[in-house]
Amino acid sequence: MKKLLLPLGLLMSISPSVLAAKPAIPSDPKIESMVEKTLSKMTLDEKIGQMTELTLDVLGGWKDGEFFLDEEKVQEAIGKYKVGSVLNVPSGKSVPTPEKWVEIIGHLQKVSMKEIGIPCIYGLDQNHGTTYTLGGILFPQNINVGASFNPDMAEKAAAVTAYETRAGDCPWTYSPTVDLTRDPRWPRVWENFGEDPYVNAVMGAAQVRGFQGSDPNNVGKDNIAACVKHYLGYGAPRTGKDRTPAYISPSDLREKFFEPYRACIEAGALSVMVNSGSINGMPVHASYEYLTKWLKEDLDWDGMIVTDWADINNLYTRERVAADKKEAIEMAINAGIDMSMEPYSLDFCTLLRELVDEGRVKMERIDDATRRVLRMKYRLGLFKTPDTYPKDYPGFASDEHKALATAIAGESEILLKNNDDILPLRKGVRMLVTGPNANSMRCLNGGWSYSWQGHIADSYAGEYNTIYEALAARFGADNVVLEQGVTYPAEGAYYEENAPGIEKAVKAAEGVDVIVACIGENSYCETPGNLTDLALSGNQRDLVKALAATGKPIVLIINSGRPRLVNDIEPLAKAVVNILLPGNFGGDALAGILAGDINPSGRMPYTYPRYSAELTTYDFKVSEQVDKMEGAYDYDAVVSVQWPFGYGKSYTTFEYSGMKVSKTSFTPDEDITVSVDVTNTGKVAGKEAVLLFSSDLVASLVPDNRRLRAFDKIELKPGETKTVTFRLTPRDLAFVNASGNWVIEKGDFTLQAGTETARISCTATRTLP
Ligand code: BGC
Repeated sequence: MKKLLLPLGLLMSISPSVLAAKPAIPSDPKIESMVEKTLSKMTLDEKIGQMTELTLDVLGGWKDGEFFLDEEKVQEAIGKYKVGSVLNVPSGKSVPTPEKWVEIIGHLQKVSMKEIGIPCIYGLDQNHGTTYTLGGILFPQNINVGASFNPDMAEKAAAVTAYETRAGDCPWTYSPTVDLTRDPRWPRVWENFGEDPYVNAVMGAAQVRGFQGSDPNNVGKDNIAACVKHYLGYGAPRTGKDRTPAYISPSDLREKFFEPYRACIEAGALSVMVNSGSINGMPVHASYEYLTKWLKEDLDWDGMIVTDWADINNLYTRERVAADKKEAIEMAINAGIDMSMEPYSLDFCTLLRELVDEGRVKMERIDDATRRVLRMKYRLGLFKTPDTYPKDYPGFASDEHKALATAIAGESEILLKNNDDILPLRKGVRMLVTGPNANSMRCLNGGWSYSWQGHIADSYAGEYNTIYEALAARFGADNVVLEQGVTYPAEGAYYEENAPGIEKAVKAAEGVDVIVACIGENSYCETPGNLTDLALSGNQRDLVKALAATGKPIVLIINSGRPRLVNDIEPLAKAVVNILLPGNFGGDALAGILAGDINPSGRMPYTYPRYSAELTTYDFKVSEQVDKMEGAYDYDAVVSVQWPFGYGKSYTTFEYSGMKVSKTSFTPDEDITVSVDVTNTGKVAGKEAVLLFSSDLVASLVPDNRRLRAFDKIELKPGETKTVTFRLTPRDLAFVNASGNWVIEKGDFTLQAGTETARISCTATRTLP
């Protein structure tokens, strides 16, 4: 293959320049001068070392069930190659306590300070709480955080995660994840806040603030650096499978996929991790346009970009845009990668050195990347305080932290159906708890829980309640029978099921008043979670059908990382609760909901499909749903879903009234205020997520059906009314047009919250920054 003189992205530049008015993170002169001073003393090898990240396994081994650091390997990596970053838990065999982490990370810091005089930055996937710190809190997964529509809780949970991560000497997490989950088949749906760009932007920014605190230049010892991932367009692979190509229109890419990253970076995110795959044929790791232009230049952002796992290698082994590793490194570094998550090999260092010597990577690029890594280390205070210790974190796994996790779980489980008000269940009710998800902490947590695949959760989370245990505790062990009918094997792939024993479950239903059928998926993560059929497993559907034939009422509990089709069994259930992946406290929260102690307030964070060939998102184009035409071609277009985005019921009723807008006609310079009254017209107190949607009635590109523009979560006592007020800027109603510009166009919009609507009109067309 020919050698490229220009970074690939330069050849494909399509977006107009959108320069930020001010730097995303204000630069701190003191930090900048320390960065320059350190940089000026570094050799080329030291600089390249700072750009290298290895996985912990490379530096140690196992003895008597304990991971140990191998001094020779540590010396080679840090002493000889000057490696500046290490990641990951020792290959999934055990989960370190904070004390064990201090032993590991503390030693790496000691060697780094002695050999290089620059601290190491250690990174962990603390993706829903302390994934990899034993004894810490596991919160609900991000998909639940999206369903809670409660950014305040998202921020608090991230702050707890930061605190508990620092208790184990680690200053950096690969979170938040703000890929839009635009395809229900994708195995990483649950790692994100759902399908909507605005929800991902708000929740992602809230987590960034929670992780890092309020000053990104001065991340205190209770906080950690965020790494927003996986930039960009990761959640829309055409095949639905992980790390396969996405084809996204330039306007959707900028308007929808980029926005959550912009929001997180404007909230101060110190680092970004890159999408492993490609967009419209361009691997993101090789794109100068997406990495350097959009992120670093357009947003005037001085943070650091790290690759995903082995993704420079993947440019030649998988994506085949490079002929060999050296060419792949050339492409990625010239595109704007600052640190390579290698993660196993040190040849990155030797090859990058050769590239610099040959003039194929400029010294300025190496200096820029090194500066960005050093800046992050200074901002984290690692030069002054390389280590943190458990004794300084007395609140680790406190009751307060547990209560927060339970509260988020309670606000994120979604009541989707409640015929004849069968829920809450009455006291003393006798129930059969059945289904493969009924008695498993692994199922409640999903992936990134104690291990990558989440497969060992039951051996670590024994102190927490499965659904069955929580129901037995809440309703009385004598009233609750467990007979699962279908079970997952302890080992093996997530989709495997043991030979079913459905008749046993049917028999067990004889003496009960109600059947709580817990269905869904076992845990998985990334590529091992790919699927070939979106329908819920045949065994599980057979189980529900056989139980329905008993005539006993069924409460269906859906516990899965992505929506699995249930169109044939949903009509057999009296009630449906979608608990998503609510974490270690999710069983208790569900018991609270079924007992009526918690009034459900979660809302669907994605569109739940009804049929396998009708996969869509709520912001589909208006032309996807049309009435019949006149004349011979009298066919319509229909969008049919199981449960729409934003849907969720409560044990009370809310009435919307009196929508007011500050002006019905506005110029592209004017903001609009919208208010709506919400009244609790039922008998119990409840929380309501008030969602404000807009529809652009006519636009120069086919308009979206509707878009979420703002939301607020309020609590109302019975009979109480609150006025919810939103402020919309013209940018909130704008879209990215065919030339790649944000534009607000002259014409009408409708606004909608609950049953209330208003019509407003923009007086002129204007391009916006
Ligand atoms: C995943 C990332 C993760 C990284 C480091 C990759 O396989 O895609 O989400 O942060 O590994 O563990």
